[in-house]
Amino acid sequence: MNKKKRILTGDRPTGKLHLGHFVGSLSNRVKLQNEYDEYVLIADVQALTTNFNHPEKLSNDVRQVAMDNLACGINPDVTTIIVQSMIPEITELTIYFSMFTSVASLERNPTIKQEIKVLNLKGNVMYGFLGYPVSQAADITVFKADLVPVGEDQLPIIEQTREIVRKFNRLYDKVLIEPKAMVGTVGRLLGTCGQNKMSKSLGNVIYLSDSSEEITSKVSKMFTDPMKIKLTDKGHPDKCPVHMYHKAFNKDTGIIAEIKKDCVSGKLGCVECKKRLAAALNEFLNPIREKRRIYEEAPQKVNEILIEGTKKARKIAVSTLEEVRSAMKINYFKG
Ligand code: ATP
Ligand code: MG
Repeated sequence: MNKKKRILTGDRPTGKLHLGHFVGSLSNRVKLQNEYDEYVLIADVQALTTNFNHPEKLSNDVRQVAMDNLACGINPDVTTIIVQSMIPEITELTIYFSMFTSVASLERNPTIKQEIKVLNLKGNVMYGFLGYPVSQAADITVFKADLVPVGEDQLPIIEQTREIVRKFNRLYDKVLIEPKAMVGTVGRLLGTCGQNKMSKSLGNVIYLSDSSEEITSKVSKMFTDPMKIKLTDKGHPDKCPVHMYHKAFNKDTGIIAEIKKDCVSGKLGCVECKKRLAAALNEFLNPIREKRRIYEEAPQKVNEILIEGTKKARKIAVSTLEEVRSAMKINYFKG
């Protein structure tokens, strides 16, 4: 039997998903769901690494993230959606991994370093936050995933997962799979500010569920090439975040080439270019909005998808943990 390879990927439910999530990971999930045995994890425990003071928000955010995935084309009949906190085996595996993962290796992780800086956590880094690469390694390996579609910012985290797997397999027994990362069409989508990556905590996001009015308003305030002030100034599209969005979301490659040419020659101004982007984004988002509405009107259906998905996935986690305990010789009363 030619068994399908497995995908595990996911999002932290800290709010609704945005365009960055789509190009970084979601589009690959949708594209690959029939080819792979796919699992999408809603990482609610990991959301607590930065939102521990607002656990009451999780219940709604878990549903929002589920609906965003479904609205983008995740088919619950082929892809399994999982709620992380309902799989206690992940927590158990996290603890085992934490016994042989050094604090120094976590402190050295470039993603952790960058997030400490951007989120201004220096001097107040929680144990759980520093350890999130360990729990993410447990998320991935408990399901024996081969492939993890992620944005570029997550590459060092996947690298650390690979190190953890190698160490576990060397120390105990060859039980775990070393997964590969797969980066999306745009590895790091800039936010509307044009500087940092699109990120909720930086307030520079366009949500997949934004209305067409919100899109128009956010796009009109976007930063563009600072060298192009007047319409007739020659622009530098390769340095312009608005152009980056055209390339990522405008389906008409002919129009993108024309926009580029007219920007460079000084024929096209930023106001018109942004109007075209808002139109292209609305065209891209319309089917997503429509599909989302169907799920918004059927909350019970969303609950069922999550409960059933988690139940199915847990069987794999339970079986992996049996192998893990046996490899670690902590199954004293078995066999
Ligand atoms: P935010 O920074 O908005 O709070 P997040 O980084 O906490 O979001 P995650 O749940 O960690 O969100 O990300 C889910 C997936 O989306 C990850 O694979 C991540 O790499 C990817 N991703 C998030 N933001 C971007 C972006 N701006 N460009 C590309 N990929 C992104
Ligand atoms: Mg993140």
